[in-house]
Amino acid sequence: MKKVCVYCGSSSGRRPGYSYAARGLAKALTSRGIGLVYGGAGIGIMGEIADAVLAGGGQVIGVIPQMLADKEVAHDGLTELKIVGSMHERKQVMMDLSDGFIALPGGLGTQEELFEVLTWSQLGLHTKPCGLLNVEGYYDKLCSFLDHAVEEQFVKSHHREMLLVEQSPEKLLTLMEAY
Ligand code: AMP
Repeated sequence: MKKVCVYCGSSSGRRPGYSYAARGLAKALTSRGIGLVYGGAGIGIMGEIADAVLAGGGQVIGVIPQMLADKEVAHDGLTELKIVGSMHERKQVMMDLSDGFIALPGGLGTQEELFEVLTWSQLGLHTKPCGLLNVEGYYDKLCSFLDHAVEEQFVKSHHREMLLVEQSPEKLLTLMEAY
């Protein structure tokens, strides 16, 4: 993988562990020479991971719609900032640029992005790996819900298994590289 897209919160969350994990993922990416693609904001976990990748000498491409550039305070120190016309264009550009996708803790926007990329994989529209970095058990209930959805026969188990879940960024990237 040359570039990985990270979906994560525009907030920092309640626990310092979330920002710490973002910095850990940044380190794992830069040590493998993998560039970051993300939503271009300078706030929350989004800003945290971008700053950490840049500080480690890595490449960061941000993709942000004009309407959000002010609200989410577009990061002004990125390797490249792409200003796009809409949220849909943002997600498409992020998907096209990236060789894999990881969700860190985040809110509704993060979930939406993760599930879109998973459902596109389910439909065979791409074959890139999708990972979830389960920091501080933040996604435990989401994982349980997905298991429930398999039990209730709304999700096929091989589609459930497309989502690679790990607590360690190194382990997650290793799984994704082998996907
Ligand atoms: P959040 O996880 O809600 O803090 O949002 C994380 C990022 O997802 C932010 O850059 C939001 O602008 C973005 N986002 C929010 N809603 C959507 C959506 N429907 N589609 C794509 N991105 C979104």
